[in-house]
Amino acid sequence: MAWLKRKERPTVTVTMSTPQSTYVPPEDTRTNICPNCGAELKKVPGAKTKCPGCGRYIYVRTDPRINARIVVGEDQLEGVDDAIAVANGTWEERKAQKEHRAQAVAALTKQFGMTPNDADVNWRMWNEDFLTAAAKRDTNTMFSVSWKMVDQLGREKKYTDAVVVAARGIIMNWADFDHEVLPAWTDYIEKAIKSGISLTEAHGLFVKGAVAVATIPKYKVDVDRAWKDVVKVLGK
Ligand SMILES: [Zn+2]
Repeated sequence: MAWLKRKERPTVTVTMSTPQSTYVPPEDTRTNICPNCGAELKKVPGAKTKCPGCGRYIYVRTDPRINARIVVGEDQLEGVDDAIAVANGTWEERKAQKEHRAQAVAALTKQFGMTPNDADVNWRMWNEDFLTAAAKRDTNTMFSVSWKMVDQLGREKKYTDAVVVAARGIIMNWADFDHEVLPAWTDYIEKAIKSGISLTEAHGLFVKGAVAVATIPKYKVDVDRAWKDVVKVLGK
């Protein structure tokens, strides 16, 4: 009822819950013993630490099952993070992600004939996430997954491939925000050009990449026009 003025609305009494009264601070049971190998560390870990003894990682978590701050070894991390997800109400999401990862690992193991590395597994999952999001018209996920992919390609210095994926995010943002071009994304085009490809080649890769978002009507844009705006940002 839009005509109802705010002051005429019935008053609602909000009873504040008192979580403070029931909150029990977790007990700190961390020690300086590496949970992976049993070596004694110089100090008690306060965050993720690499053990100088075994080279494996030590994590710090609050285990909701025992309400304690603990150091966690690589082999126990999954179980503890599962328990945290259950406590936080994010278990369903985590479970779906774990299942997706297991499927990706199985498919790649079959394809490669050996256990794939994390980067390959992530890459496959992102590709699938992007396609699923595109089918659902979930543009936020399309955008964020494309960023993860561009970032990964950048870390691997695969700048030519990065241009193809960067085109997705650039086109989406360009169409959504009045022809704005994001320098964070065009950085990869600049790096590709510095690594030796010509502007014409970069343009070709950009056009190729833009196809991936053209399934969404609002992103079926004049790619050459968007490219002109990209070129304006390059070298600035
Ligand atoms: Zn160790």
